[in-house]
Amino acid sequence: MLFATQTFLVAGLSRSGIAAAEYLLSQGAQVYAYDDVEDENVRTAARKLSEIGCRIVERGELAEKSERCDVLVLSPGIPVDHPLPVAFRRAEKRIIGEAELGALALRCPVVAVTGTNGKTTAVTMLENIFRTAGKNAIACGNVGKPITSCLKELGDDGIAVAEISSFQLETLYSLRPHVAVVLNVTEDHLNRHYTMDNYVYLKSRILKNCAESEYAVLNYDDPIVRGFAEKTKAKVVWFSLQAGQEGACLSDGYFCWNGEKLFAESELPLGGNHNRANALAAIAAAKLMGIGNAAIVAALKNFQGVKHRIQKIGELDGITFIDDSKATNVDSAVKAIESVKGESVILLGGKDKGYPYEPLFEALKNSGAVHAVLYGENAFKLFNAALKSGFTAITLCRPFDVAVRVAYLTAKRGQNVLLSPASASFDSFRSYEERGERFAELFRILTEEKRGRAEPFPAGEEIGEESDSE
Ligand code: ADP
Repeated sequence: MLFATQTFLVAGLSRSGIAAAEYLLSQGAQVYAYDDVEDENVRTAARKLSEIGCRIVERGELAEKSERCDVLVLSPGIPVDHPLPVAFRRAEKRIIGEAELGALALRCPVVAVTGTNGKTTAVTMLENIFRTAGKNAIACGNVGKPITSCLKELGDDGIAVAEISSFQLETLYSLRPHVAVVLNVTEDHLNRHYTMDNYVYLKSRILKNCAESEYAVLNYDDPIVRGFAEKTKAKVVWFSLQAGQEGACLSDGYFCWNGEKLFAESELPLGGNHNRANALAAIAAAKLMGIGNAAIVAALKNFQGVKHRIQKIGELDGITFIDDSKATNVDSAVKAIESVKGESVILLGGKDKGYPYEPLFEALKNSGAVHAVLYGENAFKLFNAALKSGFTAITLCRPFDVAVRVAYLTAKRGQNVLLSPASASFDSFRSYEERGERFAELFRILTEEKRGRAEPFPAGEEIGEESDSE
């Protein structure tokens, strides 16, 4: 693509949209930018971009300005069936994402990671491993650093550790990773991708450009991911929690690579089989990038996890508060309840993403979850699923703040209050980070209250009001 001769419309002015516009302007392209949200963040971004030559498009002029543009750069947050991409498709114009611009421009090797859950954990593990080995590696993409903003720093000899989501895969065509990792595929984002088949197809696209000289690191224990082996030309390398697998596996309590013991399972600071699986994927990818055992072992033994993923916030009255706000689908919440020690009162709810919750409650029945506090926009859908599954230890309350207090009052000494909502946060928060921060804040308020130093936090709506709505 010859940027200097083309006109781009960047739709969506969040982090990746801003980076895409900046990159395109630096390449001499004509750039228009549009966002239909009108808040302070968007206004600030628009002002900064217009100062460097970007033309900001107002809502009323979108149709006319779109006609002048050759390529639409679509934010991953905007679905491909939104009227704007539909109009570009009808006009037979290109639609790409910021990650595609990054893929076209990257000159260094790429390790790409996708999967329903564990992406951020795995790319952060890999970044740590590569850096411990003295490499200039950057975790980028969906993890929060747009790929186009890392190009200079990566140069020719860095390693791009790219976290790639299904939203990004909708508009990503040219990425050719040296190592492509698929961690797992379970139900998620069905409100966006409509069917599981479509979601699985999108995930498989991470492998589509890989040739015989590249590697696909696949989860042997996940039947959908195992099936990807038949669809790729890349050399398949497995990771598995089962002993005896070629590639990376657990054996006799050790993380192993092709039969060689690397370090004891108990030395990984993160608990849970899901984190052991993430570590195995990272080990395989690192080995395939030529990294020696010492750096892999040192980085993983020191890995302290990522914020809002099964993170201990503190203890009050012998009750442990655990923030797993990033568990935004069923499988991640199930993994959390399986891996935290002891019994938990689990906080579930938020914005629905179109999948059933019966499997969640079926799993909770045989777990350490002694009670579930249901809150948020999907509280009733959760409630129905809980009853259908025969999980009856539930309390329903709409506002998040009240739900956290109720969870705390319900939990007994020695138990956990676990925020692992199995739902997106967008019904009441801007992001899962904001939800996790509020949870930590409420823990602090409850602690102060207990010491008699704070007023009880405002309850918002009354408990029980939900019965006359929805
Ligand atoms: P992603 O970036 O794919 O959303 P994260 O590493 O941020 O994944 O983890 C998100 C949530 O999923 C965490 O709350 C964690 O409890 C859970 N999780 C992490 N790794 C896995 C895995 N391999 N399988 C299932 N759940 C996982």
